[in-house]
Amino acid sequence: MDKPKLFTVGPVWVHPDVLKEMSHQMFSHRGKDYMDLHIEVIKKLKKFMQTGDDIYLSTSSSTGIMEASVRNCVEKNVLNLICGAFGTRFSEVCTSNGRIAKKVEVPWGKANTAEKLDEALAKSDAEAVTVVHNETSTGVMNPLKEIASVVKKYDVLFLVDVVSSMGGTEIDVDGLGIDVCFFGTQKCMGVPPGLTVVSVSEKALEKAKEIKDRGYYFDFWVMKKYSEKNNTPVTPPIPQMFALSKALDLMFEEGLDNRFKRHKKVAERVREGIKDLGFGVFPDEKYASPTLTCIDTKGVDPKSILQPMKEKGFTLASGYGKIKDQTFRIGNMGWITLEDVNELLENLEDVMKRIQ
Ligand SMILES: *Cc1c(COP(=O)(O)O)cnc(C)c1O
Repeated sequence: MDKPKLFTVGPVWVHPDVLKEMSHQMFSHRGKDYMDLHIEVIKKLKKFMQTGDDIYLSTSSSTGIMEASVRNCVEKNVLNLICGAFGTRFSEVCTSNGRIAKKVEVPWGKANTAEKLDEALAKSDAEAVTVVHNETSTGVMNPLKEIASVVKKYDVLFLVDVVSSMGGTEIDVDGLGIDVCFFGTQKCMGVPPGLTVVSVSEKALEKAKEIKDRGYYFDFWVMKKYSEKNNTPVTPPIPQMFALSKALDLMFEEGLDNRFKRHKKVAERVREGIKDLGFGVFPDEKYASPTLTCIDTKGVDPKSILQPMKEKGFTLASGYGKIKDQTFRIGNMGWITLEDVNELLENLEDVMKRIQ
């Protein structure tokens, strides 16, 4: 298996068996071939996401469904948990759709807490809470279980971005009481971009019914109508669906538990390795993500590291948002192993010796 040295945070390296699935000849999405594929993919996704809720497939990137969750589930007031760039984006999606957004924000690098949410919800008339589970800009994974148990105390919908965590850590959608849970295929699922998966609870669908002007492309009820016929309202990305189906097979084969443990272990190794090289871990380590690490360069210009690494054949991710000049990121989403990361760290050590 020739493995390019991609330590990106999406799109990521795609397993050759998954890639091969994308070369199937096309067929109409209104015929039986498509329906068979649709049924198969949804069946695997329900098992994988641990949910009995409806699952819809969207021909869009994740931000499309972020917007859909707001348009379908919030009439007026919403509360946004924010700890980085993607939480901020979720809030911007709310306000740009005319919703009134109350932000509950912590400094970048910190995690959102259940306590702060509880305080905010006690005095709020929000219809929904939004949270980004794994904040890809800072490498923080929010304590979803604790946050979920607070959400359960209130009559609000729970809209959760799991874009960079689904596939890298366990997310029990029904157990956590998530109403809208979405992720694109290009991160920890290890599938090329273009397809977003969303689970939608009955409660969310009931709420959507009351909301006027939900639009068409992202209307959950339009999606539901077609999903009942094992279909999608608009042309689905059929190659990505073949790929996702295969990726899910490979994940079940590895064992989900093994897969999640591997991610955790590899991320731990990255943190240990970069600290040995004199760097810092940007986020509060208690909440460090198992799918990527955001590295504080301690004053070194990140470009002076990423460029020579690229020349050695290793693609890392630059920093994101307002911390881009002081950080870079190492993703370990999908199929990255301990050996891959050890090789990366050796080369990083080499580069650091040369630039110091
Ligand atoms: C990548 C990412 C997004 C945006 O995904 P697109 O597919 O580019 O729309 C949203 N949220 C998080 C946490 C992400 O990592």
